[in-house]
Amino acid sequence: MRQATDTPSPPDHESDNVHAFIALGSNLDQPVKQLAQAVSALDGLPGTQVLRISHMYANPPMGPQDQPDYVNAVALIATCLTPGALLEALKGLEQSAGRLSTRVWGARVLDLDILTYGDRVLNTPVLTIPHPGIAERRFVLAPWHEIAPDARLPDGRLIAELLSSAPEHPLHIVAPPTISQKRH
Ligand code: AMP
Repeated sequence: MRQATDTPSPPDHESDNVHAFIALGSNLDQPVKQLAQAVSALDGLPGTQVLRISHMYANPPMGPQDQPDYVNAVALIATCLTPGALLEALKGLEQSAGRLSTRVWGARVLDLDILTYGDRVLNTPVLTIPHPGIAERRFVLAPWHEIAPDARLPDGRLIAELLSSAPEHPLHIVAPPTISQKRH
C-alpha cells in the first residue's frame, strides 16, 4: 500500500476536473469576433475544455449609456485549474484582447467572469463565486439557461427561476455558438 507521503501533491494551480460556467462580454472592436476568439482561447487554457457555448446576445449597456451595445454569451468549461488560477488565466485573456478598464461598467474589448465553479462558494478579496449580480443580469441568465436549462446555483436556486424574475432587458441573438477558426 502506498503511504500518503508517496503521493505527490498536485501543483497549487491544479484541482480535480470541475465544471464551471463563464460569462463572456464585449462591446468594442468587433464584439462577435472577440467572443469567438475568447472561446477558442478558453479552450486552449491548460487542463481546460469548452464543453458548451451559447448563442451570442446583443443588448444595451448597463450603467453608462454613452457606449456601444454589448454582445454576451456563456460557456460551460471543464477545468483542472483552481478558481484562483482560472481567474488569473481569464485576466490574462482579457489583457491580451486589449481590455480597457477605464471605469466601472465602462466599454471593454473583453470581459470574462466566473459565474460558478462546481458547487463551490468563495468570498475572497479577489474572487466571489457565484459571481454577484447574476440574478439581475438577463444577458447572463438567458445564455446560461440556453446551454444548461437545469442549472442551479450552489444554494439550489434554478437559473430558470432567476431568469423568469430578472428585470426586463432587451436581448437579441446576433451570432450562433462559434468557435473561431483560430482554434488550436
Ligand atoms: P470586472 O470589472 O467585472 O471584470 O471585475 C474584475 C475584478 O473582479 C477581477 O479583478 C476580480 O478580482 C474580481 N472578481 C471577483 N469575483 C469574480 C468572479 N467571479 N469572476 C471574475 N472576476 C471576479
